[in-house]
Amino acid sequence: MRAEQAALEWLLEMGADEAIDAQPRDWRARPEPPGSQAPSAVDVSAAARSANPAPHSPRPIVPTPESGPGPANQIHRALDDELAGITSLAGLAARLDTYDGCSLKNTAMNTVFGAGAEDARVMIIGEAPGEEEDRRGIPFIGPSGKLLEHMLAAIGLTREQVYITNTIYWRPPGNRTPTPQEVQACAPFLRRQAALIQPEVLLLVGGAAAKTVLNRKEGIMRLRGKWFDADFGGGERPIAALATFHPAYLLRSPAQKGEAWRDLLAVEKRLAGPPQ
Ligand code: URA
Repeated sequence: MRAEQAALEWLLEMGADEAIDAQPRDWRARPEPPGSQAPSAVDVSAAARSANPAPHSPRPIVPTPESGPGPANQIHRALDDELAGITSLAGLAARLDTYDGCSLKNTAMNTVFGAGAEDARVMIIGEAPGEEEDRRGIPFIGPSGKLLEHMLAAIGLTREQVYITNTIYWRPPGNRTPTPQEVQACAPFLRRQAALIQPEVLLLVGGAAAKTVLNRKEGIMRLRGKWFDADFGGGERPIAALATFHPAYLLRSPAQKGEAWRDLLAVEKRLAGPPQ
């Protein structure tokens, strides 16, 4: 009885707080290659096709100031121009230290700029630093980060091989959702960060990152699993971007891990393909 209780407690700790199926499922089981599968009631390859439409539509990477001449837009343009002159991540982080354009800085313990390889092929963008991240100044090191590491490991990547950051650099009090103004205030830094890293793939984890970077209104259910071209403007080449579920959501809804696994396989496939 104690063993069963310990096993249940362990499952709860891992985030499995709901019974989904009578049988356990291996969410990392690789899908059959198209053509090799027996016909089934649900045509998975058709579903995958419709979830991954071929055309990539150019999209702004983070809301670029609309063409209007409002003072906020002028500030962002000026900041974009200034940051374009910074040629290293260390230089960009130093400039962020002196930046006073986002009031979240006043309540946060640390700036969470980013971590990982400066020449990473994959750049991961999450929503916002949480409590643990704020305390240590490192992105994705709490429970979500642990799951993110497992997700990366499933396609043979370590967190040291990718570059991880967020749409904003400071923890919002009480982990509230960042406001559009806060996201806008950080956007020039995120744009420059991606331009300096020049990853082959942007993996946007969660609806907030997807909506911000792709400048779309749809929720993550509609945006995930599709490739977009995230366009920086300013002469930078667009970057292939794919949205997937946030690990925090996957901890609450483990039944969706299969979909996230499919998204990661799409990233793996793209990295294995010819450079684009
Ligand atoms: N969630 C995020 O979106 N980012 C982090 O860095 C941590 C948790």
